[in-house]
Amino acid sequence: MHDVVLSADRTMMSNHHGKEFLGFVATGPPVGIPEFLWMWVAAPKMKVDDEGRVWQAPYGIRKIEAALSDAGFDVATIDPDHLHKHIPGAKVLAIGHHDYFSLGPPSSEWWVLTRKEPVNRKSFIKFMEKPEIRKGKEKGMKIIVGGPAAWQWIWAPEYIDRWGIDCIVDGEADKVIVDLVEKAMNDKDLPLYVQVGVDEVPSLEEIPLIKHASVNGLVEIMRGCPRGCKFCSVTLRPLRCYTLDMIEEELKVNAREGVKGCILHSEDVLLYGADGVKPRPGPLLKLHRLAKKYSNQVGWSHFSLAAVKYAEDNYGLVSRLSEMLREDQDDFIGVEVGVETGSPRLARRIMPAKSLPYPADLWPEVVVDAFAIMHDAHVIPAATLIIGLPEETPDDIIKTIELVEDLKEFRSLIVPMYFVPMGALRGRDWYKVQPTDEQMDLMKICLSHDLYWVEGMIEWYFRNSNPLLRKAVRMFISFVKKVARSHGIAFEEDIRVAVK
Ligand code: SF4
Repeated sequence: MHDVVLSADRTMMSNHHGKEFLGFVATGPPVGIPEFLWMWVAAPKMKVDDEGRVWQAPYGIRKIEAALSDAGFDVATIDPDHLHKHIPGAKVLAIGHHDYFSLGPPSSEWWVLTRKEPVNRKSFIKFMEKPEIRKGKEKGMKIIVGGPAAWQWIWAPEYIDRWGIDCIVDGEADKVIVDLVEKAMNDKDLPLYVQVGVDEVPSLEEIPLIKHASVNGLVEIMRGCPRGCKFCSVTLRPLRCYTLDMIEEELKVNAREGVKGCILHSEDVLLYGADGVKPRPGPLLKLHRLAKKYSNQVGWSHFSLAAVKYAEDNYGLVSRLSEMLREDQDDFIGVEVGVETGSPRLARRIMPAKSLPYPADLWPEVVVDAFAIMHDAHVIPAATLIIGLPEETPDDIIKTIELVEDLKEFRSLIVPMYFVPMGALRGRDWYKVQPTDEQMDLMKICLSHDLYWVEGMIEWYFRNSNPLLRKAVRMFISFVKKVARSHGIAFEEDIRVAVK
């Protein structure tokens, strides 16, 4: 029994079969396969010890656990199926999430398009309705919620009362959480909503280091992003680059607790140790050599496309890093990238620095060049587009369609997402209407692009996985193809990822 219990529902408390990308499956409703199988594909149960403490936990929750542990609290991260062993009894339940109510991208989009509730929302609601949580509340337990989706509680206020949420923390909570838990432990009133201001975020020295394993060995290498896109909340935070010593400490934790993989996480891994927005080979090569000391399955979370182009054009760096990581592991490496729009006009208005050091007017060319570089370097981008931005015109969407057509020859996935009001655009009207004709065309072209590439990618991505998992994913793809055909969406079935 612990004073402070950290937890989350199953869609968060899972390592997704060791395949981080499968976590996104939880953002959709079950289509083409039964819900129980959908949940198993997206979020299988996590290994736990006798107390129900999880082997791997989401990195953000591990950071909060570390901050509270460093401050002397008796804290543990508990699997959702084992909460009854600790609640009622715990004084504080703290919960973190990426997407509490499926209001973030891409959940909201799947929801609008399929008119079915995504499984991550259903899973979270089921989690909060657990009898042990209700009993804990009756005995005076405080509930604090936070994480990247903390903003969603503003859009779902009925649940604040229904579950007796005591405090919502929006922003980097590593520092403020200590004071909040102290108050909760001493039965003092908590503020219902805490927006962590720029002066309250931890400095580099104040960022706690994880004490236990993170999901799929994710370790943060820097926080913040210098590019300042208007729709992004990350950009409101100051930039802090971890030292190699800090990163090594966390790599050691994951290795010691038996996690084989490692994901270097930042909004733009290529900006680690960069000169502004210009990547530098020295820090990046040192970082990757360090990561490889602890794992032979090192991957990346995000790249910015301008940094891909700059790093390769000036130093051949994307190819070098890719070769280094693929030396004794996968033939390909996946990474998330943001295309967002193919319209230079819109790029200038909403993300003028995304293309730096190249001018925003050249954004489509930067995107095509970066995709070509990644294709040659065996890096597979999973790219996002944003549709429904407040300033968007039909012509902007047509420009984006043209860009997606130009990307057809490059091995990639492209996912259009609905605009969600975050960053400097927070408070703007949420995009709730059905897609326009142009937006529908864009979605169809993206689906066609993805079907063109996806089957070969699946063969590669799941080549060492459980046969049942492969079968379930194939069932889903067959279903999507059937739906695509029935809507007249053209795609070629005989294309496969060109290996080697
Ligand atoms: S580049 Fe990405 S992380 Fe940085 S501000 Fe733009 S959207 Fe946010």
